[in-house]
Amino acid sequence: MIATLDIKIQKTTQSRLSSVDFNNLQFGKIFSDHMFVADFSEGEWRNLAVVPYANLSLSPALSALHYGQAIFEGLKAYLSDNQEVISFRPLENLARMNKSAVRMCMPELPEEIFAEGLSQLLQLDKAWVPSQEGSSLYIRPLMFATDEGVGLRPSETYKFIIMTSPVGAYYPHPVRVKVETHYTRAAEGGVGLAKNAGNYGGSMYPAKLAQEQGYDQLIWTDAKDHQFVEEAGTMNLMFKISGTLLTAPTGDTILDGVTRKSIIQIARDMGVSVEERRIAISEMIAAIHNGTLEEAFGAGTAATVAPICAIAYEGTDYELAPLTDESFAFRAKKYLTDLCKGKVADRHNWLLKLA
Ligand SMILES: *Cc1c(COP(=O)(O)O)cnc(C)c1O
Repeated sequence: MIATLDIKIQKTTQSRLSSVDFNNLQFGKIFSDHMFVADFSEGEWRNLAVVPYANLSLSPALSALHYGQAIFEGLKAYLSDNQEVISFRPLENLARMNKSAVRMCMPELPEEIFAEGLSQLLQLDKAWVPSQEGSSLYIRPLMFATDEGVGLRPSETYKFIIMTSPVGAYYPHPVRVKVETHYTRAAEGGVGLAKNAGNYGGSMYPAKLAQEQGYDQLIWTDAKDHQFVEEAGTMNLMFKISGTLLTAPTGDTILDGVTRKSIIQIARDMGVSVEERRIAISEMIAAIHNGTLEEAFGAGTAATVAPICAIAYEGTDYELAPLTDESFAFRAKKYLTDLCKGKVADRHNWLLKLA
């Protein structure tokens, strides 16, 4: 904790907490009483404050609205069994946000502002962290350009916000995914490695087409030939084939997921062999045909692990056997859940107490 950081605290006079049904939470619809805010101008972060969650007043000429200098992050906090607010690897999210910032020509945020802002916010909104099974407090940091004017150039001013939202389980059922062989999410040299708003706007139309055909998500493939598996929605993809956990390497086109890297570590700890390498769609389909595809799942903060029950490719739906509690995917998920509840030792130092 840095005592020298001057964070102003303005408490709400009207908490909305009592109006929330914590047994019936829709993902990302309800926001906690407070948010952390900071402004960047003249090369410095200033006006650090925790304030009541409220609308912003923005210029129609706001740079972010026109040219898309806007990035975000997503992480979670949990109420541990001894009533502490624990977050999972938050500094990994900060590091990734700063990587996104560099790629989008935006300023980096210093660690002490992020860590202390998050901590002050969670101390104030501790009662918003749900304790129900599978529930957590989703934390959404975001940064956007605030210069006013429609000239195309990097903004000189920015706003950073952390808001939080109590959430239940993200995917209530296993997902049906379709391999996308026409549209592209990200290309070499592009911005796929950043969590910038435009990446998600660009993915909505192809995802909507797939949803109209009865699928929950797309499997994105490489932009050049559509021959290799990349990722799905806001999840990295993992396959267990003949006992080995396979996942595509991160790079320009694949987001460096915190869940992905944690699950890779858990696999190694459990003695499961791991290969980070390109996975051809033909290899995946062959493994389905010859029965060596044991598990397929998405890995990301929102769902932690989202089992895949069907993969569609070139007009054929391949149905996959449901994952059992003994599957690696569910054992890894249980380990992560138990860890964040304080039930198992934090051997890799992944947890940070916030309040
Ligand atoms: C956020 C995200 C992920 C998952 O990252 P986590 O840190 O595990 O939440 C994977 N792919 C994309 C495209 C994402 O936006």
